[in-house]
Amino acid sequence: MLKYISLLLVTSFCFNAAAADELVVYTSRKEHLIKDIFKQYTEETGVKITYKTGNAAALIQTLKAEASKSPADIFMTVDAGNLWFASHEGLLEPISSNKLKTNIPFNLRDEQGRWFGLSVRARTIAFNPNKVAKGELTTYEGLADKKWKGRLCLRTSKKVYNQSLVAMLISELGKEKAKKVVKGWVDNTVEIFPNDTAVLKAVASGQCDAGIVNTYYFGRLKQKSPKLPLKLFWPNQENSYGVHVNVSGAGILKTSKNKDEARKLLEWLASRKAQKSFAQVNMEYPINNLFPESEVTKAWGKFKPNKSFNLSSAGKLQKEAIKLMREVRYK
Ligand code: FE
Repeated sequence: MLKYISLLLVTSFCFNAAAADELVVYTSRKEHLIKDIFKQYTEETGVKITYKTGNAAALIQTLKAEASKSPADIFMTVDAGNLWFASHEGLLEPISSNKLKTNIPFNLRDEQGRWFGLSVRARTIAFNPNKVAKGELTTYEGLADKKWKGRLCLRTSKKVYNQSLVAMLISELGKEKAKKVVKGWVDNTVEIFPNDTAVLKAVASGQCDAGIVNTYYFGRLKQKSPKLPLKLFWPNQENSYGVHVNVSGAGILKTSKNKDEARKLLEWLASRKAQKSFAQVNMEYPINNLFPESEVTKAWGKFKPNKSFNLSSAGKLQKEAIKLMREVRYK
């Protein structure tokens, strides 16, 4: 019996010791966006990070299937809509951390501490300067005006980015006004595309004059083809709610056996030092405006981001947003 107990003690000790210097992250981020930052963390702390990449919805299903047997400690993805869904499915543990609270603005994290934004992306208007006159662009609502008929390109409503954008419109304008705006967009649209890059290419080629995209897709395309006639416009700046921003972010899994270590990694990712690489590698913005942004994003100009729409609400309003888009036949 004694032998059995000591064996048990030894194995449990080994397990804890092993657990403390290794973390497992399930992430929908592309490998090239996380590889170096995780390597940097390992070099600084000795904590090894293994990761599994995949589509957010598929990873959530895997986590549910694995349940308590899951090796994962952290779920990392993009868009508050996805983060909300993971928390809604009961996968994420509420974390209390002063470091996270200090570095991450209130509107960019879950009010219950189940997930935290780690980088900011803006969903704004891209336009062709050869086809859009100065003063024509004003607000998201402005794109619903008849003068944009046959001049807009949009990404599919199936993408969570657009669902979160419409969720913000519902929150800022009320359901009826938001519906009118989105219907106006659909009426003015030439073509619906599967991704933001396709929207940008259609705008640059002259198929349409403007579209709504995430800024880093603009950055990537411009880096490849600097001469493309494409510019960014920041809508809703004066006497309005500001540009729709969303996050990439992460939460700690309820089933994690290494919650303390996992929290430390999140705290490090939200620190000034790590933010420099974490946000800049994807041409995103740091999680708070006290941290420096990259030369690339600086060149796109300053803008007022939306702060009144708490991203925790993005998920709660997701269903309504999807229904609204279906009602106005936004494909
Ligand atoms: Fe993206």
